[in-house]
Amino acid sequence: MASIFTKIINGEIPCYKIAEDENFFAFLDINPNAKGHTLCVPKSEVDKILDLDESTYMGLMAFSRKIGKALEDAVDCKRVGMTVIGLEVPHVHVHLIPLNSMQDATFQHKVAMAPEEFEDIAKSIRSKIE
Ligand code: 5GP
Repeated sequence: MASIFTKIINGEIPCYKIAEDENFFAFLDINPNAKGHTLCVPKSEVDKILDLDESTYMGLMAFSRKIGKALEDAVDCKRVGMTVIGLEVPHVHVHLIPLNSMQDATFQHKVAMAPEEFEDIAKSIRSKIE
């Protein structure tokens, strides 16, 4: 069965999209640790990051770097953290999280955002992609 992220990539489930290319897709996390929390995923559905072939792994890192730099420009934060967990969704994803404190990195504290706020932040991140 297709993962929830494959359904997002295929447009079967809506998302606040940030960017995509031939192999990768970025969108806002629906239950963010901090405003701007973004997920970068390979279009190929693999569960664990260390099982990616080397070229997809390196491509995902380059794509995440590009999106992370745009995020850092778009959102007021001390830095953007990169985390890989995958305990909830078995489709590789890199979390890009704007960090102002350690709490933002813990996944224990979530922020509520209205749909308009998701739209605005996605637009602002998209505008910073080089
Ligand atoms: P992990 O698998 O790394 O533990 O976390 C999965 C992440 O995916 C969580 O931060 C969760 O909020 C996010 N997530 C789960 N389902 C959806 C969804 O349908 N849409 C979006 N945008 N994010 C999701």
